[in-house]
Parts: sequence; C-alpha cells; structure tokens
Amino acid sequence: MQLSEVVKDMKKRGYRRAFVQYPEGIKRRMPAFAEELEKAGIEAVLCLEYTYGACDLREYEAGLMKCDALLHVGHEDFGVKAKMPVYYVDWFIEADPTICLEKNFAQLKPYKTIGLVTSVQFVHMMKPVREWLEAHGKRVMSSRHQQYEGQMLGCRVQAGKKIEDDVDCFLCVGAGKFYGLGLALETDKPMLNLDIEMNKIHDMEDVKRRIMKVTAWNLSAVKDAKKVGLLVTWKRGQMFGSPYVIKKLLEKKGKQVFVFAFDELSIPKLEGLKVDAMISFGCPRISTDDLDKYKVPFINFTELIKDGYLKIPALKNI
Ligand code: SF4
Repeated sequence: MQLSEVVKDMKKRGYRRAFVQYPEGIKRRMPAFAEELEKAGIEAVLCLEYTYGACDLREYEAGLMKCDALLHVGHEDFGVKAKMPVYYVDWFIEADPTICLEKNFAQLKPYKTIGLVTSVQFVHMMKPVREWLEAHGKRVMSSRHQQYEGQMLGCRVQAGKKIEDDVDCFLCVGAGKFYGLGLALETDKPMLNLDIEMNKIHDMEDVKRRIMKVTAWNLSAVKDAKKVGLLVTWKRGQMFGSPYVIKKLLEKKGKQVFVFAFDELSIPKLEGLKVDAMISFGCPRISTDDLDKYKVPFINFTELIKDGYLKIPALKNI
C-alpha cells in the first residue's frame, strides 16, 4: 500500500498511533517518514529493534507502546497472522539498473536464456532490466509467486524454482547478495546478482559451495554430538518446524537435548552454554548467511530431514 492509502484507512478506523518497523537499509529515511505521518495526523513510534521481514511483527511491543496499528515499511505481507492491524507500506529503491548492466554485460555473455528474479524493493526494475537484456539479444524468463513478478523472499525462492529447467542462469536484481544466495542454494543453475548499489555483478558459486561444504561438516558434527541445543525464537513468523518432536527423536538417539528460546539470536547469548552442536528452527537464513559467526556447529533442522537422519512424516510449525 502507498502511505497515503494507509493514512486514509487508519483515519477511517480511528487509529491514531502507529508502530513503525522497517529494514536497516532505510533507517536514515525513517525520521522523515515519521514526520510525514505526523503531518497527516498519525502519531509515529519508530522501532529501533532490527526488523528482518514481514515474518517479524512486533505487535506485543506495539501494544506496550499503546499503538493502534503496525506499519511494516518495505516488506510484503506473506500471511503471518497478527492480533493487531498491520499495514505493509511500499518502499521502492530508485536507481537505473541499466548502468550496472552496461558495465558488467560481459559476465552474461555465456548465457542465452536468463531467469530474472528480485526482491520487493526492486520489483519496479524488472521491466527495464528485461527490456535491456532483450534488446541485447537475450531471452528473458520470469514467474510470479509472491505479490510481484519475479519477487522472492530470503526463504521463498519459488519464483526462480518454477523456471529453473528453462533458463541457462539466474540474474537477481537488487542490492547485496542476500536474495540471490537464497536461490543459489536451491538450484544447480549459475546465479548472478545484479548489485545496483555496488554497480557489480556477483557470481554466487564460490559462496554457495563454501556454505554447502560447511553445512555438510556441521551436519556430521550434529550426528556425533552428545549435547545438542535447539534454537527457537518466539517471533511468530519465524517459528518453523516442530522442535518438541525433534527433541524426542534426538533423545531416542541417546542425545541430551536443551531447548533455548529467544527473541533474536546473537553470539553472546550462546556463549557458555556448553553444548556440542546447535539446531536452528528460526529464520532458515541464519544457518547459511551467519555460519561463520558461531563457534559450535550450527545447522537448520531441515538438514537432518533432507539427510534422512531423522524421519518425520509431516512437520508442523511448533
Ligand atoms: S528469510 Fe528469514 S527474515 Fe526473511 S522472510 Fe524468511 S524467515 Fe523472515
């Protein structure tokens, strides 16, 4: 939704105060955003806790701050239920992606058919990138799985998976490596990130191989571990799998298992716990992107199932 629509709806419903969550990348713009809200007659509370996606709804904290609604800026609703009204406010990054394409086109030369994917803040760039590539002799494919064509989340890459058999490589339009890496880990096709901010194309192959190698090593360390910690967040949109079921299965294999619950994971929180390995049930990207941060072997619970080490007929969230 655009901010003007949000304000209109809030006023219609008599909501007066909004709790605003946003990704770190746009934090500096938030005081101006709050000013705009206040001018429109809505009091704004800016949340300084990190917000990682639409999975991360701080409705409890918003209630403590006596807010009437949550405003999630720059994220798209993907169905996390909330007891408080949540408005998802559009935030698109403005830049010309063709500058980056011009500069780095040589990296795309080996590929004839390119699968185009992106994240919500860059969806408006799909069209100019597609047109530019087609004008330069490429065939471009994309599919829709979230709200917009080609859009993926860090943990939902179906927009790419749907077309993977028909493309020679993927090109992820955006900034940084986060979204492209998510798809790279799920496909055998080459994955290239068109990084508009750095004006570069990053090939994700090396990063992907390294993550896969460390994950395989960590998986065998979990199998050998005597004491295992299960890491469970109480953020509703980041509660994946069934930790209590997995606890029982691991105990049957003779392991001592502890359930650790938290709001957000950090290195100091894990210090001194004296376990041999950790299994995460939170955001699946913690166990890929943050692998190097933790001193103990660390995997996502899905690795145990993919490997066949644990057999679970149907997994429910918590
Ligand atoms: S990747 Fe992680 S932070 Fe992003 S939407 Fe999925 S669970 Fe949330």
